[in-house]
Amino acid sequence: MSETFVVVGAGLAAAKAVEELRASGFEGEVVVYGAEHHLPYERPPLSKGYLLGNDELESVFVHDPDWYDENDVDLRLGQEVTAIDTAAHLVRTRDGQQAYARLLLATGSSPRHLPIADESGAPVAYLRTIEDSQRLKEAFTDGARVVVVGGGWIGLETAAAAREAGASVTVLESLDLPLLRVLGPEVAQVFADLHTEHGVDLRTGVEVSGVEKSPSTGSGQAAAVVRLGDGSSVEADLVVVGIGVAPNVELAEAAGLATDNGILVDERLASSDPDVFAAGDVANAQHPVLGRRIRVEHWDTAIEQGKAAAHGMLGHDPSYDRLPYFFTDQYDLGMEYVGSVGPEGYDEVVLRGDTSAAGGRTFTAFWLSGGRVVAAMHANDWDATDHLHAIVGTRADPERLGDASTSLEDLAKG
Ligand SMILES: Cc1cc2nc3c(=O)[nH]c(=O)nc-3n(C[C@H](O)[C@H](O)[C@H](O)COP(=O)(O)OP(=O)(O)OC[C@H]3O[C@@H](n4cnc5c(N)ncnc54)[C@H](O)[C@@H]3O)c2cc1C
Repeated sequence: MSETFVVVGAGLAAAKAVEELRASGFEGEVVVYGAEHHLPYERPPLSKGYLLGNDELESVFVHDPDWYDENDVDLRLGQEVTAIDTAAHLVRTRDGQQAYARLLLATGSSPRHLPIADESGAPVAYLRTIEDSQRLKEAFTDGARVVVVGGGWIGLETAAAAREAGASVTVLESLDLPLLRVLGPEVAQVFADLHTEHGVDLRTGVEVSGVEKSPSTGSGQAAAVVRLGDGSSVEADLVVVGIGVAPNVELAEAAGLATDNGILVDERLASSDPDVFAAGDVANAQHPVLGRRIRVEHWDTAIEQGKAAAHGMLGHDPSYDRLPYFFTDQYDLGMEYVGSVGPEGYDEVVLRGDTSAAGGRTFTAFWLSGGRVVAAMHANDWDATDHLHAIVGTRADPERLGDASTSLEDLAKG
């Protein structure tokens, strides 16, 4: 096939899609548009190793700069696609247009903003890009006062990095626990304890009612006062807002593609236009195993959907049935999570191991719904991963799951 395949968005999903196109023998032209000026890169280090100063910037890029030339990928960085004409099979930029036979939208997502913070003139930051991470890295110094709004993954990883740099950190979360919606109270409590034990001032059940710029501190830098609904306030040298992301669907919407919390795609990752595909954070995909739509904002999905979308573009018939997978590292807790608790929630959580700091926080958690394990995670037990993948989706006896004398390997065998 010697046609032109175009990818919009030069992130992880895009980089993996073009890698897979070439690995599958596609010999046509491959054009990738990226609004950012960087080569495609991985974001997880931006809130972990790179932010902590443990990883070099070079380590975040998906491929070496030479890879794109060697694989004949026309990478057009710093060029935003402004419109798609699906009837004419064209994408448009400010300077021109490009025809496509098949198009992949891998436009990712953007942080949700907190207008009262943005409009305050106080030092406010978000974390999505390399530049954002560099800004936080500079601000996270010994004694700096950091307020993190939002106790989700990004907020908590940011809080951990700031604490490790010696900053004093307050995390503000509107629910009763951080990560409550993702993990439920049983496991969310572990993360709450982890942060308070590391000196974070964790304030839950609080709403930010205002943000004000406060007079310059001794360093000459402006600071912030964050006012809370209960009448209290917290001072900060930097307010980091981590209240979730929204999929970048504007292009797709304007082009008339079906969207609803992301670009709607089928199991092959094809959109409502058969020549347009979507992958990664922006794709709301019909999942054959879960039996419902799901949009996943995780690293593994960007990689695997990127590859699957390449096969869809090539006219193969992939069925993207991989379960969501996520990892995080905070202080000395590393965890991996596989599966998905559906909108109907779960019936029971079964824990095995020790969730306490004294016990090394080495444990496994299983979420059950209707007698089936719908999700599982481990903390600090890196041998568990493959077993958890095998266990999720199976029917299991909660007593056996919780009985540490039955190995995970045996549970995985059924
Ligand atoms: C700080 C941070 C830490 C994370 N840590 C983890 C983690 O520990 N574990 C985990 O599983 N996941 C993690 N994630 C999530 C993971 O990084 C994302 O799921 C992943 O980056 C999604 O990849 P993507 O290619 O879909 O989108 P993105 O990485 O968002 O890339 C999309 C790209 O498209 C560009 N673009 C958008 N519109 C246009 C346009 N019109 N024209 C041209 N270009 C355009 C954007 O500028 C962007 O560069 C983290 C994310 C962040 C921000």
